[in-house]
Amino acid sequence: MKRRAFLKKAAVGGAAAVAASTVVAPTVIAADKTYKWKMVTTWPPKLPVLQTGAERFAQRVGEMSGGRLTIDVYAGGELVPPMGTFDAVSQGTVECGSGAAYYWGGKEPATQWFSAVPFGVNAQGINAWFYSGGGLKLWEEVYAPFNLVPRPQGNTGVQMGGWFNREIKSIADYKGLKMRIPGLGGKVVSKAGGTVVLLAGGEIFTSLERGVLDATEWVGPMHDLRMGFYQAAKYYYYPGWHEPGTCLEVMFNKSKYDALPADLRAIIDAAAAETNSWSLCEFEAGNGAALTELVTKHNVQLRRFPAEVLADLRKLAVETLEEEAAKSPIAGKVNEAFKKFQKQWGAWSDLADRSYFDVIAERYSKLM
Ligand code: CA
Repeated sequence: MKRRAFLKKAAVGGAAAVAASTVVAPTVIAADKTYKWKMVTTWPPKLPVLQTGAERFAQRVGEMSGGRLTIDVYAGGELVPPMGTFDAVSQGTVECGSGAAYYWGGKEPATQWFSAVPFGVNAQGINAWFYSGGGLKLWEEVYAPFNLVPRPQGNTGVQMGGWFNREIKSIADYKGLKMRIPGLGGKVVSKAGGTVVLLAGGEIFTSLERGVLDATEWVGPMHDLRMGFYQAAKYYYYPGWHEPGTCLEVMFNKSKYDALPADLRAIIDAAAAETNSWSLCEFEAGNGAALTELVTKHNVQLRRFPAEVLADLRKLAVETLEEEAAKSPIAGKVNEAFKKFQKQWGAWSDLADRSYFDVIAERYSKLM
C-alpha cells in the first residue's frame, strides 16, 4: 500500500515536473527570441511630443531590451486611418497604438475619463489616480473586453481655453458660437448653445480665418504657436477647463502583450511610464517660452474666462458627466471612482499647491 501510494505520488510529481518544464521551456527559448512589432498612432507625422513621444517610447523599448523587442512606428494614416488605431490594435492587425482614450467614447463611454475630464484633475492628479489611486486598474478593466492593455504615455498639462474671435463675457456668448472642441468639452459647449464643429488639424486654421469657425481650442502655447492661430483669432482664452491635464495613451493587443516574456513586459511598462513623465516635462518647459513669444512678438491678447462663465460651464460639465456615466455600467463605476478620487486629491491640492502657487507664481501680466 505504502509503495503504491509512493508510486502514485511520484507519478503525480513526475507529471507536475513535466508540466512545470513545459511552462518553463518557452520562457527559456523566449530569452533569445526577438520580437518585431508595429505601432500605429492617431497623430500627424512629426507632431512634436505627441508623435515624437510615441517614437521615443519605441526607441526606449528597443534600447532597454537590447534589440529583443523593436517597434516600428507609423503616424496617423500611414498604415491605418488615425481613428482606426483602436480597432487595428484590438484586432491584432498591429501590436500597439498611441492616441488618447477620449477618441474611443463611441466604443465605450467609460474610456473618456482616462484622457480628460472637464473641471477634473490636472496632470499630477491624473497620474496619482492612475499609479496610486486605482485608476489604471479601472482603465485595464474598461479595455480588457476589447483585448487591449492601456498605459499612460504622455500628458499635455493644463491646456489653453482656445482662440476666439469674439469675447466671452457671459455664458450667453456661447449661443451660436461655432467652435472646434472635441470630447466631453465639446458636449458642454453644445449644452451652452454653441455649435460644435469637428475638423481635422489641417483644416482648422483656414476655417478660423474664413469665419467658418468663431473659435477653436488646440493644445497649449507650444503647439498653438506652431499652428499659427494668432494670425486668425483675436483672443487667447484660459484656463483650459475642458482639458486640465490630458493623458495620452499607448495601448497593446492583450494577447500579444500577455505572450511576451515577463522582462519585456516590464520594459514596456517602464518605457511607457518614463515617456509619460518626459512628455509632461516637454510641455511644461516649452509652453512658457511659447506663451511669451505669442504675447510679446505676436501681440496676442490673453483673456481669462470670467468666474461666472466658468461656474456656469462647470454646472453643465457635471450634467454632461452624469449623462455619459448613465450610458454603461462601467462608465458609472469609473465616474464614481473618479469623483471620489478628485475629492480626496482636491482637498490636498488646494491646500498645498494652490496656496503655494498664489505665493510664487509669475503673473502672466508681467509678460505684457
Ligand atoms: Ca485640446
